[in-house]
Amino acid sequence: MTQPGRIGLIGDPVEQSLSPSFQQPAFDALGLSIRYELWQTSLAELPARLDDIRSGRALGANVTVPHKPAAFALMDSVTDLARRAGAINTISVRGDHLIGDNTDIHGFIVPLVECGFDFRASRAVVLGAGGAARGVVVALLDAGIAELTIVNRTRQRADDIVAALGDERVSSAGLDALSERVAGALLLVNAAAIGWTDAAFPAGADTFARLADGATVYDLTYRETPFLRAAREAGLSTIDGLPMLVHQGAKSFEIWTGQPAPVELMWRSAVAAREKRGG
Ligand code: NAP
Repeated sequence: MTQPGRIGLIGDPVEQSLSPSFQQPAFDALGLSIRYELWQTSLAELPARLDDIRSGRALGANVTVPHKPAAFALMDSVTDLARRAGAINTISVRGDHLIGDNTDIHGFIVPLVECGFDFRASRAVVLGAGGAARGVVVALLDAGIAELTIVNRTRQRADDIVAALGDERVSSAGLDALSERVAGALLLVNAAAIGWTDAAFPAGADTFARLADGATVYDLTYRETPFLRAAREAGLSTIDGLPMLVHQGAKSFEIWTGQPAPVELMWRSAVAAREKRGG
C-alpha cells in the first residue's frame, strides 16, 4: 500500500494549532490520500526541515509563529504577495524547489469584506510588526485603506515595514503612542502575540473609547481574549482570528491540491474543534 502524502505545520510551538482539525477533514472529504501533521521545529532545525520537504518527503507545509520571516528567507522562490509581506505561511513544492506564499493576506481580509467594512473611508491601527502583521498591512493596503499606522513594542521593526512598503498611507509608532494613534480610527487590529491574558494587555478601556464610533476591533488570536472582551464591553464590533485561520487554510489547501477547498466543512470542523477545546 502506498504511503499517504504528508503536509505539515512548521512552528514552535505547534501542538496548540487547530489547523489539523479542519485540514484533515478537507483532505478526507475530497478523497485525497494526504495526512496533515504537526512538525515542532526550532529555528536551528528549520533549514533541515525545509530540506526534508525539498527532497520529496512531503507535499508542502504551513509555517506559523515564529518562523514566517525566517522561512521566507530560505525559499527558492516566493510569490509577489509573499515578497511584499516579507513573510510566508504556505510552502509548495515544484521539483526540488520550495515556493513560498502568503495566504494570511487572503484569510485576514475575508471577514472584513464579508461584514462590508468601508476601507477607503477608514484609518486603521495595526498592533505588531511580526510575520502576521506584515501580511495584515499588505492586505489592508490592497483593499484600499485610507491610512494605516503600525504600532509595535520594538519601533525599529515597524519602521522597517514602512520603509520596505514605500506607501505614503503607512506610518509607524512605538507602543507608548497607541492611545494617541487610535483616536478616530475605524479599525484596530491586534496582530501582536499579546492580549491573551489581562497581565499582558496593551490597551485599556480608555484606548477603545478613543476609537471612532462604530469602529471594529480585530484580534488574530482565534479564541476569546481579554482584548476582544474589553472591546465588546466598550460597545465595539469584534472579529476573532478563527475566520482568518480557516480562510488562510482554505487558500493553502487550494495551492497544495489544485482543487477548490470545502470551506464550509473546514469552518464547521474548526468551530467544533475550538468548542471542544473550551473556546
Ligand atoms: P511574531 O512574528 O513572533 O511577532 C510577534 C509580535 O508580537 C511582534 O510584533 C512583537 O513585538 C509582539 N509582542 C510579543 N510579545 C509582546 C509583548 N509582551 N508586548 C508587546 N508586544 C509583544 O508572531 P506572528 O507570526 O506575527 O503572530 C502574531 C499573532 O498573530 C500570534 O498571536 C499568532 O497566533 C496570530 N496569528 C493568527 C493567524 C490566524 O490565522 N488567525 C495567522 C497568523 C498569526 P516585538 O517586535 O517588539 O518583539
